[in-house]
Amino acid sequence: FPVENIRNFSIIAHVDHGKSTLADRLLELTGAIDKTKNNKQVLDKLQVERERGITVKAQTASLFYNCEGKQYLLNLIDTPGHVDFSYEVSRSLSACQGVLLVVDANEGIQAQTVANFFLAFEAQLSVIPVINKIDLKNADPERVEKQIEKVFDIPSDECIKISAKLGTNVESVLQAVIERIPPPKVHRKNPLRALVFDSTFDQYRGVIANVALFDGVVSKGDKIVSAHTQKTYEVNEVGILNPNEQSTQKLYAGQVGYLIAGMKDVTEAQIGDTLHLHKHPVEPLPGFKSAKPMVFAGMYPIDQSEYNNLKSAIEKLTLNDSSVTVHRDSSLALGAGWRLGFLGLLHMEVFNQRLEQEYNASVILTTPTVPYKAVLSSAKLIKARRAVQKNMMFIDENRVMLKYLFPLNEIVIDFYDSLKSLSSGYASFDYEDAGYQTAELVKMDILLNGNIVEELVTVVHKDKAHLVGKTICERLKDSLPRQLFEIAIQAAIGSKIIARETVKAYRKNVLAKCYGGDITRKMKLLKRQAEGKKRLRKIGNIEVPKEAFIKVLKTQ
Ligand code: GDP
Ligand code: MG
Repeated sequence: FPVENIRNFSIIAHVDHGKSTLADRLLELTGAIDKTKNNKQVLDKLQVERERGITVKAQTASLFYNCEGKQYLLNLIDTPGHVDFSYEVSRSLSACQGVLLVVDANEGIQAQTVANFFLAFEAQLSVIPVINKIDLKNADPERVEKQIEKVFDIPSDECIKISAKLGTNVESVLQAVIERIPPPKVHRKNPLRALVFDSTFDQYRGVIANVALFDGVVSKGDKIVSAHTQKTYEVNEVGILNPNEQSTQKLYAGQVGYLIAGMKDVTEAQIGDTLHLHKHPVEPLPGFKSAKPMVFAGMYPIDQSEYNNLKSAIEKLTLNDSSVTVHRDSSLALGAGWRLGFLGLLHMEVFNQRLEQEYNASVILTTPTVPYKAVLSSAKLIKARRAVQKNMMFIDENRVMLKYLFPLNEIVIDFYDSLKSLSSGYASFDYEDAGYQTAELVKMDILLNGNIVEELVTVVHKDKAHLVGKTICERLKDSLPRQLFEIAIQAAIGSKIIARETVKAYRKNVLAKCYGGDITRKMKLLKRQAEGKKRLRKIGNIEVPKEAFIKVLKTQ
């Protein structure tokens, strides 16, 4: 393929504005997938994505498209929209020259529309605004055009109005990709320089690296070197994603594809790494800024004998999600484990779910906390208000964009949900780090019959401690199964108890339902109960099911 006929682009948007649906139509139009009624979010391959209906991983697809007698190779990267996965977006953009900025014709510009636009703008990519869902009854594409002109300074006649669901006008999106996005600036005569922008671990084939070639050519059999580890490998397979892997003889500069080179260890394929030919070392590409975790939680195997399995599962999954940070940790109650950093609460949930679904791992997660820096000093400053307004801009007569400085702790847990319900779903929200501020914080323990529950230790603002403590105690009361004895649930700051609930004694007898005789059935029930117990944690003599922790942590 001549470089002039290659286009590399991403689809970016706010959550639910139709990125994945548009990607489906583009795949159909170019014949990558057959037109059937069942093409729904084809690129959302993970189970967690299908269950939640959201994209969490960027996915690449190479499309072939004929236009005015020329054949084009279009490399499309579908990206997630949620703020927790913006690291996926920024990495994907490094392999692109342009983006489709999809905006819902009914909802208009939302928080992640703005955030994602600026990622593309800073990377100096061509931006093609696409107004989607024009089939909706309340669609107002003209209003959205004006918003786009006002907020992004893009002339309204550049907007393409489509319905990704019905396929209306989608062909003109492909036209615009060819006309408005420049081909990659690359040099095929130079020695190979390939950027690893994503990777996955396959049990049989080892590391599968997603690469964007900036210079040169790579073929099966080439000896290549990782600039990061300086290790040499022989290339076993290269190919394009169409959207499934399709091996090819070579990959040329300007192309996006995959590469397998017998890397058997997850530490060998770092995202951001540069690959070059053994005989031609090159200056490595700049790589990526590492992601900055916002929410931390401890992760422990339910049973310590699972430690090594869980360790390897975490390593493999973090290869595919490099925004998670991992540090070894241990706790008296839970044994050896890790302290993980996530970009947000949804990110934490998705990571946990992927561990369970893709690696069959079962874990205990401790209460998420945000990073604090402790300073040893007697005076800490009291802030009357926890949020400070910074900036305000009207997007149109009905919408305003507000910028606030907030303590991260106030927003990671439930701010988004409260904002959504307060505004009847109209408001949207995005955040970035603004550095550390001083605050009056206390450490709060949760006790069950006097024993501290390590998983639930939290740091809270002094003024909120009572409310948070009360809520956790109530949630625990609702989710703890009754046991043979009474359980006192308490929240405490130091030795001071600030909230208390009680669970009355009782115990379900699993055998009560068997009337005598049937021994196999009895054994089955006992076995099932024993299996259930593996998922329990003992605190003192109290059995706490994993689900109880999850319930308390999730909605806190
Ligand atoms: P993403 O989060 O940006 O990837 O959005 P999706 O592609 O998953 O779409 C979110 C929802 O909007 C889905 O229920 C789609 O069926 C729906 N949707 C997408 N495009 C259109 C459209 O053009 N018209 C209508 N009415 N619905 C659409
Ligand atoms: Mg999607």
